[in-house]
Amino acid sequence: MAHKISSACTACGQCVDSCYVNAIVAGNPYKINDDCVDCGVCADVCPVGAIEG
Ligand code: SF4
Ligand code: SF4
Repeated sequence: MAHKISSACTACGQCVDSCYVNAIVAGNPYKINDDCVDCGVCADVCPVGAIEG
């Protein structure tokens, strides 16, 4: 199961560079695609806690 971004996302973009497999796609809200390896790094970066594992 890939991590997911909830509707709490403010589209700030801070999570994008944290993902080393480039699984985070810009949008409103941002989305995580199937390349996600569930490392959890992006969830720690998100200032509003919008990323759930
Ligand atoms: S959990 Fe890891 S691999 Fe998945 S989107 Fe977040 S940073 Fe990328
Ligand atoms: S860091 Fe959080 S609020 Fe910012 S774009 Fe990523 S998921 Fe959305």
